[in-house]
Amino acid sequence: MLILECPCCGVKACESELTPGYEAHLKRFGAGSSDDDFESYMFARKNPKGVHFERWRHSYGCGKWFLAARCTATLEVFGTYSAQLAAPPADLQAKIKAKRPDWEGF
Ligand SMILES: [Zn+2]
Repeated sequence: MLILECPCCGVKACESELTPGYEAHLKRFGAGSSDDDFESYMFARKNPKGVHFERWRHSYGCGKWFLAARCTATLEVFGTYSAQLAAPPADLQAKIKAKRPDWEGF
């Protein structure tokens, strides 16, 4: 069972209390962008075996969105952080790099 700590309210919630929001840190393209950029934004998603950054919503708790870093192969959770951040916090990236030296970084 996947358990994530909501950084908004501090509750450790199991996945049945959460709603996945899929890939985090997408660069959005809208009106005025090229067809290729818009198509990539709409349809192309990473599907890595290893470190992945995801959006989650604490649906049956505080209701807020947050971001999580976890390993898709082992389901190890490296940490969660605010959805307001444009990139994972430096301390979280250092923690991931220490555990996964082959990780290419954010
Ligand atoms: Zn919460």
